[in-house]
Amino acid sequence: MKAIRLFEKKPVLSFEVFPPKPNVPIESIYDTLDNLHDLHPDFISVTYGAGGSVPGASTAEICETIMQKHGIPAIAHLPGINETKESVLEKIAVFQEKGIENVLALRGDRNPAIEPKNDFRYAADLIAFLREHGDFDIAAACYPEGHPEAPDLDTDILHLREKVDAGASHLISQLFYYNPDFYAFREKAAKAGISVPIEAGIMPVTSKKSIERMVSLCGASIPNRLAKLMARYSDDPASLKAAGLEYAIMQILDLMDNGADGIHIYTMNNPDVARYIMEQISGEPRI
Ligand code: FAD
Repeated sequence: MKAIRLFEKKPVLSFEVFPPKPNVPIESIYDTLDNLHDLHPDFISVTYGAGGSVPGASTAEICETIMQKHGIPAIAHLPGINETKESVLEKIAVFQEKGIENVLALRGDRNPAIEPKNDFRYAADLIAFLREHGDFDIAAACYPEGHPEAPDLDTDILHLREKVDAGASHLISQLFYYNPDFYAFREKAAKAGISVPIEAGIMPVTSKKSIERMVSLCGASIPNRLAKLMARYSDDPASLKAAGLEYAIMQILDLMDNGADGIHIYTMNNPDVARYIMEQISGEPRI
């Protein structure tokens, strides 16, 4: 199913998972999917790492399992920075063979150790290419606080509009912890003529280490309230996790109250966290 159709019902609730790292057994991702199954997300998106993936658990293979075994729509992430037109055509053929209809088209992060191929300098180039060479529903990334390389949010939103004009039918946001940033971004995007659905990306704080790593990677800011929680429970991981989950639930409920088109939960392959959140936001036990 094309993911854009899911937005006919609002809000869409979706998950992100990632292929296992080389030192992790490949079965772990399939166990994670078994445990996410009965949470009935509207779709699950699968990331694509710069270093490729472990044989047997590539982005495309995981998407195939999500669709065929679990009956859940899947979105395959595809960063273009290290791809050539030929390699993307090969990936398109694999997606088509596996029945993958949805792609999250990205530029990908620059890696100083890898010379970027210049076929897809920006995500918009990849979106246009995918439109031309396949019949995919294409999503793109957006950044409520602006992409770290952009000079300012307004400029970033101009480039976001280029992705929509190139054919992105919906957007999934970078994680953020301060909802007013998302609302201000959404308003600016609308003023810039962006009218496609925008899902809010939520990554629950489950440990001090994970949040510090993510925030340093993506540049999301930590509002005072969350900073205080993290300081209060800095020596108490269990309480920090509980407080982080409550914070995420409050964020999600507020987003739903404020008409968010969708909530995309960065599950970090942790079904327990996803389950707890889904139970709390629906008020129903998920067994
Ligand atoms: P773009 O939209 O191309 O933007 C990148 C920068 O270039 C921005 O600063 C933008 O303002 C600027 N820009 C765009 N067009 C122009 C132009 N014409 N002229 C000048 N400047 C321009 N990375 C992965 O490697 N694998 C993943 O699976 C993955 N999944 C992600 C999922 C989500 C929901 C998000 C939000 C990010 C994900 N990323 C992933 C990270 C992403 O690859 C990085 O954030 C990357 O740095 C930017 O990708 P983009 O597609 O947003 O790039």
